[in-house]
Amino acid sequence: MKTALCWDDRFATHDMGRGAMYLPIEGLVEDDLHVDSTARIVRTRNLIRAAGLDDELAVVVPREARVDELLRVHSPEHVERMKAESDAGRGDAGGGFTPMDGRSYGLALLSAGSALTALELVLGGRARAAHAMLRRSGHHAWRDSGYGFCIFNNCAVAARAAQVEHGIERVAIVDIDAHHGNGTEAIFLSDPTVLTVSIHQDRSFPVETGMVETVGDGEGVGANVNVNLPAGTGDPGYHRALDEIVCPILRAYRPQVVIVACGVDASLFDPLSRLGVTAAGFAGIAQRLLAVANDVCEGRLVSVQEGGYSHVYAPFCWLAFLEVLAGLPRHDDPFEPFVAGQACCREEAPWQRAALDEQRAFLAAYWSVLA
Ligand SMILES: [Zn+2]
Repeated sequence: MKTALCWDDRFATHDMGRGAMYLPIEGLVEDDLHVDSTARIVRTRNLIRAAGLDDELAVVVPREARVDELLRVHSPEHVERMKAESDAGRGDAGGGFTPMDGRSYGLALLSAGSALTALELVLGGRARAAHAMLRRSGHHAWRDSGYGFCIFNNCAVAARAAQVEHGIERVAIVDIDAHHGNGTEAIFLSDPTVLTVSIHQDRSFPVETGMVETVGDGEGVGANVNVNLPAGTGDPGYHRALDEIVCPILRAYRPQVVIVACGVDASLFDPLSRLGVTAAGFAGIAQRLLAVANDVCEGRLVSVQEGGYSHVYAPFCWLAFLEVLAGLPRHDDPFEPFVAGQACCREEAPWQRAALDEQRAFLAAYWSVLA
């Protein structure tokens, strides 16, 4: 059985417009592309094809999500407002830096549908794992609003579908995007049936959320896990966070499906983070999460794209992740000669080690497996 790649050419046509990173073009700010540009996903799709993976993967055109599927995690008001703004041809999904145009709503439905398609392929036994490449991302979207370039929370929609449509009782969402999965956390904060784990850069975006102390609410206490990585953490520290905190928690929780919020903006060259993870590092992340899925849920792993803004390097990071999911040999990373000169990619600094040890000790109060 092959690993699936969900892809629709319409994702390659959605332009977030002009912007300097994400700032509007005004005052002294010179004209440039919005950081969530079409280029990053077009180049990723090109690289996957050029590397020969189309012959190895099942490339599947996703379906659109239905509104009733969105309403399991979003309010009717939010869905209606997103449609109205898109119908008007312009607007903002939330926060003032999440642009909408005339195609945004349709592509957001297709993005959530892409996560659902990936889930259906894996749970239906038609793919051994699946990766949904999409635009727009989802993990910052709350029940009542979009935020941080996100419109609908694709992973959350997939998690609820797993429970409602497929009889799954325990879902784990593991968010490896460099930024806190604040929307996903908020949606499931008091729900013990969806374990939400976010590994992100300490005090990055959003700055108000993502603290290790936020462990869930009510019946959901313990089922929300935040791991804060100090800037400059690199591959060894990231992998240790998985080996010593996240993977033991996943094995103890025993989810019946693992959904990965697969942002690669923790990469060494990303303009929106300072974490320094390499393509080989992302392969190591995929290996660890796949090993957990193999151990606890017969390998049922669904990967859903989130951020990743270096349009030259993010494609190599997603390629590395996908090669591991598909059990294929890895292509060389052409950036490796530069990577090799970066100490943060090779060794963990003492203060980074101490920060992780402290968080592990804190979380041990909720997860005895960490004691
Ligand atoms: Zn991000």
